[in-house]
Amino acid sequence: MIILLVILTQGANSCSNHAIMVAGDEGKAFALHAGPASTYMASRFGAGTSVSSFVSSSARRLMMGERKRRSVMSEYSANLGHIHPSIPGRTSAVRAGIGQDTAQGAIVPPIYLSSNFSFAKFGQPRTYDYTRSGNPTRAELEKALAELEGGQGASCTSSGMSAVTLALHTFVLHREHKHPRLGRVVAQHDCYGGTHRLLTSLAEQGLFELTLLDLSDPANVAKLSELNADLVWLETPSNPLLRVIDIAAVSKTSGRARVLVDNTFLSPALQNPITLGADLVLHSTTKSINGHSDVVGGALVAKSKEDAERVAWWCNCLGVGQAPFDGFLVLRGLRTLHARWSIHEANARTLAERLAHNPSISAIHYPGLATHPGHELARCQQRGYGAIISIELKGGRDAAKHLVEQLQLFALAESLGGVESLVAHPATMTHAAMDEEARIHAGITDGMLRLSVGIEAIEDLVADLESGLDSLRQAA
Ligand code: PLP
Repeated sequence: MIILLVILTQGANSCSNHAIMVAGDEGKAFALHAGPASTYMASRFGAGTSVSSFVSSSARRLMMGERKRRSVMSEYSANLGHIHPSIPGRTSAVRAGIGQDTAQGAIVPPIYLSSNFSFAKFGQPRTYDYTRSGNPTRAELEKALAELEGGQGASCTSSGMSAVTLALHTFVLHREHKHPRLGRVVAQHDCYGGTHRLLTSLAEQGLFELTLLDLSDPANVAKLSELNADLVWLETPSNPLLRVIDIAAVSKTSGRARVLVDNTFLSPALQNPITLGADLVLHSTTKSINGHSDVVGGALVAKSKEDAERVAWWCNCLGVGQAPFDGFLVLRGLRTLHARWSIHEANARTLAERLAHNPSISAIHYPGLATHPGHELARCQQRGYGAIISIELKGGRDAAKHLVEQLQLFALAESLGGVESLVAHPATMTHAAMDEEARIHAGITDGMLRLSVGIEAIEDLVADLESGLDSLRQAA
């Protein structure tokens, strides 16, 4: 039996409101909150959340009923721990640079903000001379990411898009040998909107030839060797439809082309493209590698030493390297990558299973569901299914707007992979840079919403979405 008691006391001003909630569950009573309501509300839901909305959302959660709550929790515990505790790289991610400071014995590596470093003697530079060319803090992160991805080297950049620019300069715009013909890029047709915009704009300027293909279709993968590309660009799972591409098959059929995988959606915790045959791995470290939505950054990891050196040369030449302070924050985020992912994963799988049969949803895209066309491939090439779920609502754009307006925990925002849950409307946000024809071709509908599932308590995430969907059904 659940008893919900809410006591509100009104003080002289809104800051002295007190909200005390006591919930009794089978004889066990506990206080959910006692103290200034405004402080709690601000920390829980953000500034401006009223006492009444707090009460109604809490009540709604309890009204889900004990049986429903238990079913969420039992689905959840089955999903928790999906990431095997002994996966490679977990210890390295936690310990990158730890305890190596010889000057003071600092446990955490210091941040070297200095833009320049003195020469040891005339004509004798030390390991670092100028931060654009190299910096000890950035180097710690580069070493850690190269190791986690199984590459021979990495260059960390000021954003994911500067890593994209770096890859294009190094392998397409400036190829090893002078070729009489233009370079060619073959890219996944539904790659990230910003990458799509850069590729199509540069190709329109005549800087290279571009072929966009659905590489989740094996018939297109079989054709790759005929295209004589310099670079084959994959994102798997793709954004926002989460199409899964066979990295090993693409690597076998790409001929002389380098195969680059944008591994932002899964991170090295869940997928290692180099071990599947790829030559290069790209990350927007803005996402789950940093994981706290407080840095913009990127990385390009190379399988071979030679490619890693070429990338580092161009990184310095273009001046796109990451600032030391940002590098330090990404390294700090990296330490909890695997711990965060085990919760992201379990939350996303439970949520997807609950949403799969919701009557307001016409389609759900999540590789962890057995109904997803890429499920088997994802099971083989990934160590988990990720934390992105895309849903298509029956009522199109109006329904998407209605649902977004009901949600309290899923903030309407760009980006993904942070500890907090987010919702995005790809057609008007992440993929607005694509023209309508390309968007339709990629399958991005007006009723589609993309959820980035965070690490909050699963019962709160389920309650938030299910009550928003209930409201949508009532409004229809
Ligand atoms: N690649 C993917 C898959 C992304 O989702 C993004 C950004 O959302 C990028 C690259 C670009 O990264 P950034 O925003 O850090 O420049």
